[in-house]
Amino acid sequence: MMLTPYDVLRLKNRLKISSEEFLEKYTVSKIDEKSSHPYIYLKMSRDEKRNCLFLNPPNGCDIYTDRPVSCRYYPIGQATLKKQQDDSIIHEEFYFFVREQHCLGYQENTEWTVESWRIDQEASLYDEMNREWKTILMRRNIPSETVLDPKKQEQFYMASYDLDAFKRYVFESRFLQVFDIDEEEVEKIRNDELALMKFGFKYLKYLLMMEESLKIRAGVLKTMKG
Ligand code: SF4
Repeated sequence: MMLTPYDVLRLKNRLKISSEEFLEKYTVSKIDEKSSHPYIYLKMSRDEKRNCLFLNPPNGCDIYTDRPVSCRYYPIGQATLKKQQDDSIIHEEFYFFVREQHCLGYQENTEWTVESWRIDQEASLYDEMNREWKTILMRRNIPSETVLDPKKQEQFYMASYDLDAFKRYVFESRFLQVFDIDEEEVEKIRNDELALMKFGFKYLKYLLMMEESLKIRAGVLKTMKG
């Protein structure tokens, strides 16, 4: 099961561990063939059952109130289509059912619509948190921009999932000397993990040349131009 940046944030805080430890212990990472983006997936048990590591029978899910967005939606799948409308690109989200034998929910009598299911599963908050990241993933549909070099893949991984490492990168490297970020924002990302996560998306858009979402300081630009 694929995880999103907001899933990682919730889970590492739930487990009271660092993002590095969470990623190491509970995830595997793979480079997506089409986009060359690094994505992360929840590790499954090594035995033949291949169960989720958070499944704890007979109690169920050990981290239920912080379960990932894919668990919340299941058995509904989500996808996004990128469409040209007049002069702009729009992203259209749609849903589909995943019919699997082991899903006992199909045997119940309660009727659900996608909307009532989303409300029941508190999916809106997750969708809101992941929306911007998803627009970054849609970049894979731009033919000229498909392959990321290993350095960019590392940065993508860090800014998306490894929030503690990203924080060190922002505050303990030359980052703030290179980029012109206003004081208020700096304080926000120093003290608020959600703001840091969203700043990571901004950085990714800059890094992947999708938007001029960050500005290089004038003095640094001069040095670069020689
Ligand atoms: S609901 Fe919990 S136990 Fe089930 S797959 Fe999701 S994280 Fe794992």
